[in-house]
Amino acid sequence: MTLSASDLYAIEARLGARNYKPLDVTLTRGEGVWVWDTEGKRYLDCLSAYSALNQGHCHPKILAAMTEQAQRLTLTSRAFRNDQLPLLYQDLEKLTGAKMILPMNSGAEAVESALKVTRKWGYEVKGVAPDQANIITCSNNFHGRTLGIVGFSTDPLAHNNYGPFAGGFKTVPFGDFDALAAAIDNNTVGFLVEPIQGEAGVLIPPAGYFKRVRELCTEKNIVLVLDEIQTGLGRTGKLLAQEHEGIKSDLTLLGKALSGGFYPISAVLANNDVLKVLQPGTHGSTFGGNPLASAIARAALRVLVEEGMIENARVQGEYFMSQLRTIKSDLIREVRGRGLMIAIELQPQAGGAYKYCERLRDKGLLAKDTHVNTMRLAPPLLIQRAEIDFACEALADLFK
Ligand SMILES: *Cc1c(COP(=O)(O)O)cnc(C)c1O
Repeated sequence: MTLSASDLYAIEARLGARNYKPLDVTLTRGEGVWVWDTEGKRYLDCLSAYSALNQGHCHPKILAAMTEQAQRLTLTSRAFRNDQLPLLYQDLEKLTGAKMILPMNSGAEAVESALKVTRKWGYEVKGVAPDQANIITCSNNFHGRTLGIVGFSTDPLAHNNYGPFAGGFKTVPFGDFDALAAAIDNNTVGFLVEPIQGEAGVLIPPAGYFKRVRELCTEKNIVLVLDEIQTGLGRTGKLLAQEHEGIKSDLTLLGKALSGGFYPISAVLANNDVLKVLQPGTHGSTFGGNPLASAIARAALRVLVEEGMIENARVQGEYFMSQLRTIKSDLIREVRGRGLMIAIELQPQAGGAYKYCERLRDKGLLAKDTHVNTMRLAPPLLIQRAEIDFACEALADLFK
């Protein structure tokens, strides 16, 4: 017997921790850019699991790689070698030019790993005195939910009542070069930043900001850590968002879409020797780099490139934004974005984006509000014009 959506909801309301307030829709199936609820109603997915589904739902080639690998070998731990992880290393090297790679599982783990490595590098290579290292982060950042990370979150919901927190972090405004320059001291070992702040509402820094940041980090001998967990893997119309800025990080963090939407995997990619501070026993993860995740990630990367999804994100993203900008409404403050990472910021008098997301759901489009007044639109990267037109019609109808 299958349970109805309301039966399922009753179970969730009774037993589930209340750390999410999902839109009232219960999904049971997905294919490409579309998902279906338990009543058989179809929706266009304009969230893509926060960009973990860049390749779309249940991509057949990733599914085939997963089932094939799942029948052979799923987990060895890193106590033994497996025959898949080196192939993933090689693919990532080919795609990004990375010189050394650390596989982990969740995005937050990749961030934590990069912070640990940056500190260790600070002590062992840069020569900072014991326990004196600091790492600079940005206001309105989102880097995940672990204790270390929420310590330097400026979002009260993420931060409050989880202390005491680890020291050694400073905060500067995002996109403010002078503030960064002023915050650096002799003990600064790293700067952790998102190329575009996603959860903050798709905030794009001023042109030229990252070029100057790159130069400053090189000059001051500071590890530039770019969190591309959301912006990476085609989302902004380039493989990595840092390509728009013409720069290379020291450490790049990948997660989300590296999974192809199937199985969590994240990675720290190094463009230099920083990761060499890790020696056997100094860091690890039971599931990190397992053969199942590696095979899935390889397929996820392969379809992204082979099926032209990165270029499609650029082309369709421009089309999507140009169509959204034709919607004339006093309730819309701004449409902004890059590639298929798009936000519609509403005026305060609109009364918050959540209720508009509910009305979009009724029209067959799933989107998510962020920071009260912003609605984020980030469909899978294989979206086509007709589907964008469908989305724009629903949105135009909403704001007319
Ligand atoms: C989602 C996200 C993370 C955290 O990833 P999890 O897999 O949820 O731990 C970190 N950084 C950015 C920019 C993200 O968007």
